[in-house]
Amino acid sequence: MRTASSRHTEDPLIPTEWVEKEVAVVGLGRTGVAVGEWLADHGARVYASDADDRPELAAAAERLRAKSVAVDLGTHDLERIGAAAAVVVSPGVPPTAAPLVVARQSGIPVVAELDLAVRALAGTRTVVVTGTNGKTTTTALTAHLLQAGGIKAEAAGNIGRPLIELAEADLDWVVVEASSFQLHDAPNLAPSVGVLTNLAPDHMDRYDSLESYYADKKRLFQHGTDESVWILNGDDEAVESLAGDTLGERQRWSTRSRADAWWDRASGDLMVGSAPLMERSRLSLLGDHNVENALAAILAAAAAGLDYSAIPAALETFQPLAHRLESVREVGRVLWINDSKATNVASTTVGLSAMDRPFVLLVGGREKGEDLRRLIPHLQGCRAVIAFGEAAERFRRDLGAAVDLRVASSLDDAVTLAQATAAGGDAVLLSPACASFDQFRDFEQRGDSFKEMVAEL
Ligand code: ADP
Repeated sequence: MRTASSRHTEDPLIPTEWVEKEVAVVGLGRTGVAVGEWLADHGARVYASDADDRPELAAAAERLRAKSVAVDLGTHDLERIGAAAAVVVSPGVPPTAAPLVVARQSGIPVVAELDLAVRALAGTRTVVVTGTNGKTTTTALTAHLLQAGGIKAEAAGNIGRPLIELAEADLDWVVVEASSFQLHDAPNLAPSVGVLTNLAPDHMDRYDSLESYYADKKRLFQHGTDESVWILNGDDEAVESLAGDTLGERQRWSTRSRADAWWDRASGDLMVGSAPLMERSRLSLLGDHNVENALAAILAAAAAGLDYSAIPAALETFQPLAHRLESVREVGRVLWINDSKATNVASTTVGLSAMDRPFVLLVGGREKGEDLRRLIPHLQGCRAVIAFGEAAERFRRDLGAAVDLRVASSLDDAVTLAQATAAGGDAVLLSPACASFDQFRDFEQRGDSFKEMVAEL
C-alpha cells in the first residue's frame, strides 16, 4: 500500500491522476465508505461527500478521515468535484444528483463502484444478475446454491454488500446484483455468466425514455465472448431481443414451455431439459415469480460449475428474503405474510398472484399516483382489504365498491382489524402497494414493525 504523499503509483487500478489530483466519492453509505477506504489504501487522494448529514453518517466520516480522506457531510463541494480526476459513485445515487451532473458537464469520468470493484477482483469469476424484478432473490439463490455445493462464492452488489469489500477475498465466484444505474458506469464489467431476469418499464422518473433504461441493461452483454454464458428469461421477448447477437452460449428458463430449465406444471416438477430435477413444492418460496427466480439460479449455478445433483437439497434450504413474501408466523391457523418490499401496484400484484388460500390484504402508506384500481382483478379470494396510512382514503375511493374495505388508523390498528377478520385457513398479507415514508423510514422498518406486531399476537 502507498500513501497519497508518494504522488505517483504503479498500481494499475489507480491512475497517476487519482494521486496527483483527487478522486471524488459521492455518497457515504456502506458502499461509499468501502470505496473511500479502498481508494485511500491504494494511494489515491480522496474527497468524499454526502448531501445528507443524518447522525449515522458521522461514524462513516470518522472512519474515512482516519485514512486522510477529506469528508463533507450535508453538502457536496461542487467546485471541488468539478476539479476531480474522476468521480466514483455508489449504487443509491441517482444519475440526476448534482455532483454527477457537474462531473458529466465537466467531462470528468464517472465510475461506478461496481466498475472499480470488478477491476480489483480480476481473476475472480462473476455471475452478474440484472433485470427489472427478481434480481436480489436470484442473486441470493445463486450464491446459496454455490455455497451449499462447496464452491467458494459470495453475493454482493445491490444486494447490500459492496463488491469492493470482496476485493481481497479468496473466492472462486462472486454473484453480483447490478442495477441499471451501476451498469451505466461500468465499462469494464465482463461477467463469465450473465443473468437477465425480465424487462419492464421502471425508474421512469430517472430515465428520459424506456430505450435509455434498456440501453443500460444491455451493457450486461457489452463484452460477450465465446466463453460467456447468458442465462435468459425464455418467456420475455424483450430479454431475448436485448441479448441480440452477443457472443456466447445462451440458456433459457421458462414457466410456460420446455426450455433448458423449466417448470412442468402438469407433473409439478422443475425440469432440466427432459429430466426432472425436483418437485416445485419442495421450494419454500411462494409465487410463480419465485419459480422463475429459482430456475434462473439453477442455470446460473450450473454454469458456474455446480453439479445438478447438488441443487435440490440446496434449493430446499433457501428461505425467502426478508420483506419479500416472507412467511412470518401462523397464529390460530392464520398465516401472516410480510411483503413490505411491495411498494408499488405491480409488486403487490405479484404478491397477490402467490395467494393460494383466502386472505386479508393490508395496503397503504404513501401512494405514488398509480391507478390503484389495477389491483381489483387480482383480488379474487380476498376476504377484506384493510387500508392504513396516508393513502387509506384513496384505497377506499378506488377499491371500496369492489371489495370489503376497511380503513385503519395505523399499521398496528390494521393488524388488530385483520386478526378479527381472518378465518382459520386464511392468510393475512401485508403487501402495501405504496411507499412507507409517511410512517416509516423505509420498507424494511415497516416490515420489521409488522413482524414485531405479529410476534405479539
Ligand atoms: P429486485 O432486487 O429486482 O427488486 P427482489 O428479488 O428484491 O427483486 O424482489 C422484489 C419484488 O419484485 C418482489 O417482492 C416481487 O414483487 C417482485 N419479483 C420478484 N421476482 C420476480 C420475478 N421473477 N418476476 C416478476 N416480479 C418479481
